[in-house]
Amino acid sequence: MPETPSANLFDLIAARRPRSDQLALETSDATRLTYGALFARSAQAANALVALGVEPGDRVAAQVDKSADMIVLALACLRTGAALLPLNTAYTLAELEHFLGDAQPALTVCRPDGLDDIRRLAQKLGLPAVESLGVAGDGTFAERIAASPAEFATVARAPDDLAAILYTSGTTGRSKGAMLTHENLSSNALTLVDAWRFTAADRLIHALPVFHTHGLFVAVNVALLSGATMIFQNRFDPGAVIHTLPEATSLMGVPTFYTRLLEHAGLTREVCRRMRLFVCGSAPLLAETHAAWRERTGFSILERYGMTETNMITSNPYDGERRAGTVGFALPGVSVRISEAETGAPVPSGEIGVIEVKGPNVFRGYWRMPEKTAQEFRPDGYFITGDLGQVDADGYIHIVGRAKDLVISGGFNVYPKEVESEIDSIEGVLESAVIGVPHADFGEGVTAVVVPRPGVILTEAAILSALTGRLAKFKAPKRVFVVESLPRNAMGKVQKATLRETYKDTFR
Ligand code: AMP
Repeated sequence: MPETPSANLFDLIAARRPRSDQLALETSDATRLTYGALFARSAQAANALVALGVEPGDRVAAQVDKSADMIVLALACLRTGAALLPLNTAYTLAELEHFLGDAQPALTVCRPDGLDDIRRLAQKLGLPAVESLGVAGDGTFAERIAASPAEFATVARAPDDLAAILYTSGTTGRSKGAMLTHENLSSNALTLVDAWRFTAADRLIHALPVFHTHGLFVAVNVALLSGATMIFQNRFDPGAVIHTLPEATSLMGVPTFYTRLLEHAGLTREVCRRMRLFVCGSAPLLAETHAAWRERTGFSILERYGMTETNMITSNPYDGERRAGTVGFALPGVSVRISEAETGAPVPSGEIGVIEVKGPNVFRGYWRMPEKTAQEFRPDGYFITGDLGQVDADGYIHIVGRAKDLVISGGFNVYPKEVESEIDSIEGVLESAVIGVPHADFGEGVTAVVVPRPGVILTEAAILSALTGRLAKFKAPKRVFVVESLPRNAMGKVQKATLRETYKDTFR
């Protein structure tokens, strides 16, 4: 019988045969790793994992700062057949206790200055091994890497074997561990390489965190599968990005990257002269930002849509119109449909419903939560994203918000995005968020939280009067709060749950 080829994502990356002297990664502290060096260091790290007792199928948790060695660790996990469990660097010890207790990792890797605390926590939870990894090639795990041989036979994996567990941001209740397989990650990254035309000539500015699907899987896997070079910046700094733009070809970012870059006088057509692609996702990009970017740089931002559980689902086209305010079309090999949230029945064409998705990109379920997993899938295998969307006459998909953010006022559905768009078009408004909060008569009262442009003074009365006649009465906000900024998480998503909590007593 012929041997089944391994579906290990690392084997797939190696099989693309990047030139060994080609630069894979450079960091702001001048670390430069060629593909040859990256592969060799990942072999050393894989040997270090095995020496620490990590076996295929085990979990390796990592709460470390962004660095070249974090990527080395991620590749080493693939090579040993372990599942990487990256953790948001902002999580506190109390939060870590939940994640580590739930995932029971065979190894936990933390920042050097957290080693004592995490060792104590691991002891309490009965976890076997804890190591540290710093940003400058330091830490106990880095020492083990350096002391290990640079040859390692990558463990063969089946398509369905786990490659990673990513905890969802969990805005409602406990966050859940999304189980992602080698096939999930490789099928999606290969699709994106083609869809976005990545090649070894690309130099990608990577300023995203590496504990989230966007920075870890979209950016890193697409770059490595195309033999491209990543320019790592440990945190997003508009000045640093602008400084690097002249030597880069591509950028992947969240909407706040683009709005903050637009505020910087250094953003010009000239600095973008070698660029070919700006990708945006993880939160909605305002049509106005899309237009301003085009005006300033000559480029149309390519907006795409995805989530931790599904990898990327849709993308605007590389060729053809990138339509502002939309997330484009289903990616090749990915099936998308719009259904009635309650029943799962198809909605008439053009109407709003919940977005459902099926394909090799969709995760295998939530770690140790079979009931929760079952609730999120339809009987025919479609995953219910919880995002509300509609398809326009040309087939472009529009996202109108999360199902749980839908406001129901007096029995009528109010889609926050529609109200936000009207508010955002008022002179002097920078951005807004619309939420529903408890209201004795209406069930929920539409409430708007509005951020003025710098130097502009806005009042509730002025906003309400500007909205008169532009929205059906039931959609119009009953109260407007003017604030300096909206609460956002690390990926730039507006935290509507926080806003609902802040304004919960508005109508009481
Ligand atoms: P996460 O799992 O943290 O990546 O969050 C996924 C969620 O982010 C999706 O379910 C959407 O609600 C939102 N999202 C991602 N990309 C977009 C986009 N381009 N436009 C609007 N929302 C988006």
